[in-house]
Amino acid sequence: MKKLLPTSTVGSLPKPAWLATPEKLWSPWKLEGDKLLEGKQDALRISLHEQQLAGLDIICDGEQTRQHFVTTFIEHLSGVDFENRKTVKIRDRYDASVPIVVDEISRRKSVFVEDAKFLRKQTNKPIKWALPGPMTMVDTLYDNHYKSREKLAWEFAKALNEEAKELQKAGVDIIQFDEPAFNVFFEEVNDWGMATLERAMEDLNCETAVHICYGYGIKANNDWKKTLGSEWRQYEEIFPEIQNSNIDIVSLECHNSGVPIDLIELISEKKVMVGAIDVATNKIETPEEVANTLRKALEFVAIENLYPCTNCGMAPLSRKVAQDKLNALTAGTEIIRKELSI
Ligand SMILES: [Zn+2]
Repeated sequence: MKKLLPTSTVGSLPKPAWLATPEKLWSPWKLEGDKLLEGKQDALRISLHEQQLAGLDIICDGEQTRQHFVTTFIEHLSGVDFENRKTVKIRDRYDASVPIVVDEISRRKSVFVEDAKFLRKQTNKPIKWALPGPMTMVDTLYDNHYKSREKLAWEFAKALNEEAKELQKAGVDIIQFDEPAFNVFFEEVNDWGMATLERAMEDLNCETAVHICYGYGIKANNDWKKTLGSEWRQYEEIFPEIQNSNIDIVSLECHNSGVPIDLIELISEKKVMVGAIDVATNKIETPEEVANTLRKALEFVAIENLYPCTNCGMAPLSRKVAQDKLNALTAGTEIIRKELSI
C-alpha cells in the first residue's frame, strides 16, 4: 500500500431495506431467484459508492451478497445440511440456528468469486475480501460427521484455501480471515487454530489479514464484554503465535474497548488494522476521537504499518449511522495526515 494510513472497514455494512430486513443479523432476503441476484449486485454497487464517498482507501464488498459472514460460506459446501438447522451455543456465548455437517466436506464450486470479479470491475482501488477463518467456522455449526473440531477445521482450511486462491486470481488485493473465535478458545488457537489458518492462507501471493474482535454490537456480545473487567488481555494469549505466523495484517478492536493498546507491541512485525470506530453504539465518533485512537496506536506501531479501520463489521447498524461512522473514520485519519504532513 503506497498511501500512508489507508482506511477501510472490517467488512460488513448494512444492506438496503429492499434487499434484507435492516439492523438484524441473519436477516432473510426479500427477493428471490434472478431478482435476488440482481438486487445483490445493485447493493454491491451502492456499497462501493458509499465507501468511495466516505473516501475509504481499501474497498470491501460490504458483504452485500451474503446473509452471514460464516454460514453463507458453509452453506455452499457439500457435506452440509443447511435446511435442517440446529441451535447451538456459539463462542460459548449465545444460541444461533446453524447448518449441520452430515458428510465429508468439499467445495464443489466457488462461493464469492463471481462477486469479487464484479466488484473488481467497478473500482481501481485496492479491494479486500473477508472469509471466515477455520476455527470460527467450526464454532458456527453443528458437526454430526467428523466429531472433532480440529479435523473439521483442517477440512475447512482446505476449502478456504481453494476459494482464497480463486479470489486472488480475480484481483483481490487483501484476503482477510475473520477469527473472532480466537479471542475465546486460546488453547485451541495454539494447538491447531493458527496452523489451520495458515493452511487456509497457503501459497497466496496477495496480502493476508486476520480479524480478531469482540464481536458485532449485539446484546450477547455487549453483555459478555461487561464480564471481562477493566483490562481485556485476550489478545495477549494469541499475539505471540500470530507474530510467528505468515499473516501480513492483524485487524483489532481498539476504540471504546478495554484492550490495552500497548499489546500491539507483541505483533511488532505485522501491519495493524486499528479499530478506531466502535460498532456497538449508534453514537458517532468525532474525527478528533478517531485521531486520538490513531495517535495512541502510533506510539506502538510504525506509521507505514498502521491501517485505520473499524472495530468489527457494521451489518447490524442503520445505514445512516454506518455512513456517518465511515465519514468520521476518514476525517479523523485526515487530521493525523495533516499533523504529520503526509
Ligand atoms: Zn469482528
